[in-house]
Amino acid sequence: MAERHQVIIVGGGPVGVGMAVELGLRGIDCVVVGRHEEPQHLPKGQNLTQRTLEHFYFWGIVDQLRNARLMPMGYPIGGVTAYGDMMSEHWYAPQGREVVRNFYFEKNDRLPQYQTEAVLRERLKDLPSVTTLFGWTVETVEQDANGVTVTIGETEGAARKGGRYEWAGLCLKD
Ligand SMILES: Cc1cc2nc3c(=O)[nH]c(=O)nc-3n(C[C@H](O)[C@H](O)[C@H](O)COP(=O)(O)OP(=O)(O)OC[C@H]3O[C@@H](n4cnc5c(N)ncnc54)[C@H](O)[C@@H]3O)c2cc1C
Repeated sequence: MAERHQVIIVGGGPVGVGMAVELGLRGIDCVVVGRHEEPQHLPKGQNLTQRTLEHFYFWGIVDQLRNARLMPMGYPIGGVTAYGDMMSEHWYAPQGREVVRNFYFEKNDRLPQYQTEAVLRERLKDLPSVTTLFGWTVETVEQDANGVTVTIGETEGAARKGGRYEWAGLCLKD
């Protein structure tokens, strides 16, 4: 069995999946290869800026993203600034975002990166030109004058795929 794609995206984090959404909305045939079947529960990527939310608006996922936040609506989402030690006086600091608020048409938000990734992955399901290979790891990437050859291995298994991107299209073969 052989698959042909215009683009291969290595990495299923927010950048890779975001790129797949962007390409998919334009009908560009692409495959995104991500090491993990599910987003990893790591404490990172909490703050999403107004500009990021503007991208999500054009990707049609602002409501889904805001619904995925863990902090209840109405709670402050800035950082806590403490002076001295953690028992000292402290207060919520808005981190200056209110200064730039009027330059954007979406508010910033705060949620764990794995929640954002889940929303982005869900969006891919409605984009027929995007193929997802979550649970697969790109093992080698070799480039010559005419294209790129990649090999892909199942992260938790023994299966392998090899493929070649010939500038005009990627060919993935079992
Ligand atoms: C502690 C911490 C706090 C942070 N806080 C914020 C914040 O508040 N706001 C903010 O905007 N940013 C924050 N960041 C930065 C943010 O997490 C990164 O900018 C973001 O993760 C980058 O996304 P990415 O998709 O490029 O990379 P990653 O999120 O690293 O995703 C890359 C993906 O590719 C996969 N991968 C790697 N190699 C392969 C391979 N060979 N084959 C297949 N898949 C592969 C990985 O498993 C991973 O899923 C924080 C980062 C850290 C570490």
